Amino acid sequence: MDKNEERIARTEALFRAVNERIAEAAQRFDSDDAAFVCECSDEACTERVDASLVEYERARAHSTHFLIRPGHEDTRLERVVERRGNKFAIVEKFNKAIAGAVRRLNPRPKPA
Ligand SMILES: [Zn+2]
Repeated sequence: MDKNEERIARTEALFRAVNERIAEAAQRFDSDDAAFVCECSDEACTERVDASLVEYERARAHSTHFLIRPGHEDTRLERVVERRGNKFAIVEKFNKAIAGAVRRLNPRPKPA
């Protein structure tokens, strides 16, 4: 895994961890949707992604899927598996090194 791939995996895992907190807070306040942070590979990205908790859970059901702003996908590393207009997109990592790293950093590890 090169330095760039490592940085990308860490950036995305960090944004994903932030979104886990946002989803928890929305649930606590009985809200159906929330303003998530974009989980793209650009560490300087500060854009928000409006999605329902149900939509968010669809992304989180796979340890290699991420919720991003449409257009923020890096097609060298990931492919879009779902797109909702200009609201959000869900991408799947196909880069092996990054997919492996984000799987290890999954906040919701699968039971053994
Ligand atoms: Zn972004």
